[in-house]
Parts: sequence; structure tokens; C-alpha cells
Amino acid sequence: AAVDGTELETALQEITAELQSRSERGQPADYIPPLARVDPAHFGIAVTLTDNRLFAAGEAEMPFSIQSISKVFTLTLALGMAGDSLWRRVGREPSGDAFNSIVLLEHERGIPRNPFINAGALVVADALLSRARAPRETIGEILRFLRFVADDESVAADPAVARAEKATGHRNAALANYLYSCGNLNNPPDHVLGVYFHHCAVTMSCAQLARAGAFLANGGRNPATGRSVVSPERARRINALMMTCGHYDGSGDFAYRVGLPSKSGVGGGILAVVPGVASVAVWSPGLNGQGNSLLGIEALEMLSHRMGWSVF
Ligand code: GLN
Repeated sequence: AAVDGTELETALQEITAELQSRSERGQPADYIPPLARVDPAHFGIAVTLTDNRLFAAGEAEMPFSIQSISKVFTLTLALGMAGDSLWRRVGREPSGDAFNSIVLLEHERGIPRNPFINAGALVVADALLSRARAPRETIGEILRFLRFVADDESVAADPAVARAEKATGHRNAALANYLYSCGNLNNPPDHVLGVYFHHCAVTMSCAQLARAGAFLANGGRNPATGRSVVSPERARRINALMMTCGHYDGSGDFAYRVGLPSKSGVGGGILAVVPGVASVAVWSPGLNGQGNSLLGIEALEMLSHRMGWSVF
């Protein structure tokens, strides 16, 4: 049945009003100054329906650092280039560990558990580099893809965030060097890190992100442009990975509370997919203990409950 626009509009307004009034909002990421400076009071949410209607509330047009949400798009792009051979280099199991965990890598001989933890995203970045060769070209290719799926030429990376990621990224550098030593990077670790830091530094608004993710809700086809991004089967598989691995060691709890494929970022954004129905982007910079948006999860929990949106 078609989504009732009035019901959805009311739900978004009420959820936004309630969450904007909360005092317990979590702390913004503090590992780099550009994220630590963000006011935790921001809140925005946007929904793109597969019939191409857009609904939004709060600060849905304000750009924020998408951080690890970018990993959904780099994975999509890498699968398009490398196909299923990518799975020889990175697994498809939830890790139960923090996003930047280093412990599993040694046990598993440099094959990261999944493409959404940092180690896995570095392997994905390496796969993208292997085709374009230069980091600058690869970053350009990722940005072009994001502009294509968002149907918006203004999508860009924030150079100050990319610089800060590089200046403080010692743990990511350790992961890249370890992967390299295991033979699971084909390009120099600093090139791979350059690509990784830049895609984490992309800024987008909730409205842009919801549009960019809509192909995942619509059998691989962008509902705004009608253009195919991936096959229906690949969209389903990316959704499966988001469901099982999208919130790191908070993935099980998120599936229990919300029940939607979804990917978080430490900028406080979350992209969630309601297969066949909608893509939802929410932003609240305060994080919980697992580095996922505290109120973003609450917003999705309330919205999925009210709209009956769960894959279960
Ligand atoms: N840039 C961050 C990092 O590599 C991304 C992590 C995240 O969003 N979970 O640490």
C-alpha cells in the first residue's frame, strides 16, 4: 500500500519536536576538532519514498560529515568494479567489535570481517585505487558516484576534515600497514589512507543522503532519475550487510530496536533503508558508546514503529 503522506509528515514533525527537546543527546565525536566543534543540538531527518516523494523535518538541508556512511557507497562502487571477487579479500560477518578494532585482523590473516569496519573499508578503498591508480582520480570517482546517486552536483569532501583525519589517523594507518604486511593491499598504505580519509570527509545533508540511498530501497534503481545503479540482487545483498554490520558492535541492538538495513557514521548521521518503500537519513551529532548517533537511533526506532517499517 502507498505510504500515507499526511501520516508520515505528522510522524516526522512529532519525532523531531520530541527529540529536539531532549537534554540527553550523547557527545559528538571528539577525535578531530571539526567534529568536536559541532553543536549537539542539531537534528534533521529526511525520507525519500520509492515513488519519489520527499518528506523532511528539522535541519534536513544542513550538510554534515557523513563519515562511515560513505562506506556503503564505496562498497557499491567496488562491487561494480571487482564484482564478487572482492569477497576473497573481505568477509561478510558482523565483527562484534568496535569500528576501528585491530584485534581480529591478526587472527584472520589480514582479511577484515566486513566492509564497514575501518579495516574492511580500507580494503575496499584499495580495490577502488587498483583501477584508477592515483588517489586523486579515485577520490574524484567516488565523488562522481555520490553526485550521480544523490542527483546533486554539489556533493563534496571537506578538506579540513580530510586533513584532520590524516593528522590524527594513527590507528587507521596501523590497520592499513597491517593489511599491507598481510598482502591484502595492492597499493601503498598512504594512498589507500588518502582515499579513505577523503570519502569519510564528504559532507551531505539528510535530504541529499536520503536521495543517494534511495536506489537501495528501490531494487537498485534511483527513483528520482529512473537510472539503474546496481542490480536488484546486489541492492538486496548490500542491504543484508547494512543490517548485519552497519552499526559495528551495535548492529544486533539496532536490528532489534529498528529492524532496518542501516549505516551509521561518527558525524552522527544514519542512513536507513526500508526495502520497497523508502530511504531515511537522520542526523544528530551526539553519539552513544559504540560511536552511533544516540538520538538518530531513537528517531528511527520511533519512525519504524509508527509507520510499521521493519523488514521483520
Ligand atoms: N573517519 C572515521 C574513522 O576512520 C570514521 C569512523 C566512523 O564513522 N565510524 O575513525
